[in-house]
Amino acid sequence: MNVTFACPRCEETGTAQIAIGAAAMACPKCRADVPAADGAWSEGALRRCLICGSPDLFVRKDFPQRLGLAIVVIGFAASCVTWFYYWTYLTFAILFATAFVDMALYLIVGESLVCYRCHAEYRAVGSIDQHGPFSLETHERYRQQAARLAQVRRVSGATTGEVPAGGEPAAR
Ligand SMILES: [Zn+2]
Ligand SMILES: [Zn+2]
Repeated sequence: MNVTFACPRCEETGTAQIAIGAAAMACPKCRADVPAADGAWSEGALRRCLICGSPDLFVRKDFPQRLGLAIVVIGFAASCVTWFYYWTYLTFAILFATAFVDMALYLIVGESLVCYRCHAEYRAVGSIDQHGPFSLETHERYRQQAARLAQVRRVSGATTGEVPAGGEPAAR
């Protein structure tokens, strides 16, 4: 399978290959060893995010949005031409075909797993049954957590001039 993630060492985003159950992978940018989080694997299935260890991952359709949009745009442009020449049947045939191709594309593309916390993406994972689809509630929880953390960093950075270890505001 492969993982697209932000390297904790160099903070660059890259895609790395990792064997299912492997204990570590190499960052494609800086070649640093990125160890898999504790308890990430369980019986050959991905339970937690390898990068941040969060147990909350959601299943997302790996839909190529640009290709999907391109098909719609081309179909619409072609139907405008046929409409201009009063080829009514052909116009509707093109519009239906466009919708059909997009739908077929949606059905055949694979699924990927995405981490709510660090947004790492996992493809060709194998077993993803234990993870659910996107939940706005969980997403919101992680978003607020990240916002609070950023605020704490800002406040403590403003009072002490640096971020203290542990991420808590420094006592004055
Ligand atoms: Zn790196
Ligand atoms: Zn993560």
